[in-house]
Amino acid sequence: MLVVMSKNATEEQVNAVVNAIEARGYEARPIPGGDRVSIGILRNEGPVDPSPIQGMAGVKDLIPVTRPYKLVSREFKAEDTVIKVRDLEIGNGHLTIMAGPCAIESEIQAMTIAKHVKKAGAHIFRGGAFKPRTSPYSFQGLGEEGLKIMAKVREETGLAVITEVMDTENVDIVEEYVDIIQIGTRNMQNFSLLRRAGHAKKPVMLKRGMSATVEEWLMAAEYLMEAGNTDIILCERGVRTFVKHSRNTLDLSAIPVVLRESHLPIIVDPSHAAGFRDQVIPLSRAAVAASAHGLMVEVHHEPDKAMSDGSQSLYPEQFENLCRQVKAIFDITKNNF
Ligand code: PEP
Ligand code: MN
Repeated sequence: MLVVMSKNATEEQVNAVVNAIEARGYEARPIPGGDRVSIGILRNEGPVDPSPIQGMAGVKDLIPVTRPYKLVSREFKAEDTVIKVRDLEIGNGHLTIMAGPCAIESEIQAMTIAKHVKKAGAHIFRGGAFKPRTSPYSFQGLGEEGLKIMAKVREETGLAVITEVMDTENVDIVEEYVDIIQIGTRNMQNFSLLRRAGHAKKPVMLKRGMSATVEEWLMAAEYLMEAGNTDIILCERGVRTFVKHSRNTLDLSAIPVVLRESHLPIIVDPSHAAGFRDQVIPLSRAAVAASAHGLMVEVHHEPDKAMSDGSQSLYPEQFENLCRQVKAIFDITKNNF
């Protein structure tokens, strides 16, 4: 249930409604909106009896929430969430491009790629310091050294930086060095990690589990938001199917569904969806045409020598082309749809 307060409701009226909800054993979660406050009712098992709240001063409307996810749902918050990261805004009206190598391999590698992607128009530098690898014998990332390199990249290029955190112990250190914390596909339902990242002061980008439904993905985002973090970006990165021509299958239909169901921004990662670089530009065009709020793309200046995911990494010149093309598509869709 969502209690919508009238535009001119006073603070006392809002507090009285919060107290009335809590007196019934529920949790009240005020949600500031554009010009009015709404109060979400959480922890109810079954329908909430609206009658005691309906007649209270300042209450405009009571809206039943039909979805299992609440705080992340459009029913709870109608306006799009726009997330501020340094001087960037991610969400409605903006196209945010994140790019960089799969893994941070060295300072020279990271800096070289960062300069290329910045010149091409990327806003955020990506790179893994803690890598979730299928094989324990594969390169696992540089750890804290990788985080330090990311911080240097930010200092030198001015780009914001994003990296993945794989476990609760490393959330503090990742939060210290980077601007956005990434939770990867393999950890989408790692609930203790979600809770811990929900207490972080930095935005979290939550990738879709490789076989998760949109509902499960939004419920995972609900964990983050329930723990207190309202700055969440969703990232569609393809789901596991039977096909062999790509690493995963990019679920473009998730974009309109997420836009309908949630107020959170949605970014698309065509690289991990594709697995092969020749698919990355067409998938990027399609994602932007389908109204994704941005892209996360793997780029490497020497993909043949990359320590992970070289086959799906774009050459810098290809990335430049990608940026030019998706910006043109974004301008058309922004102004005409
Ligand atoms: C990544 O972005 O570095 C990554 C490992 O992606 P995913 O979690 O989508 O596989
Ligand atoms: Mn990768």
